[in-house]
Amino acid sequence: MNWMYSCKRVAELLSQRLDEPLGLLDEMRLRLHLSMCGNCANVAAQMEALHSASAELLSTGLDPDEPASRVPPH
Ligand SMILES: [Zn+2]
Repeated sequence: MNWMYSCKRVAELLSQRLDEPLGLLDEMRLRLHLSMCGNCANVAAQMEALHSASAELLSTGLDPDEPASRVPPH
């Protein structure tokens, strides 16, 4: 029985998790791996930082309904 995920599988799940939530079992296995593998824990931290940074950029920087960005012509 192969309870532990490989690092490759973990990387796949990490990027997949940014788009959609994982199943409970996948999530548990992922966390188990991250708690035992410093390498993947680093990757996960970087991915989450990147993801939240780009989400922030999208919500604040590129909002077409932002009133301040609609400068009336003089
Ligand atoms: Zn790993």
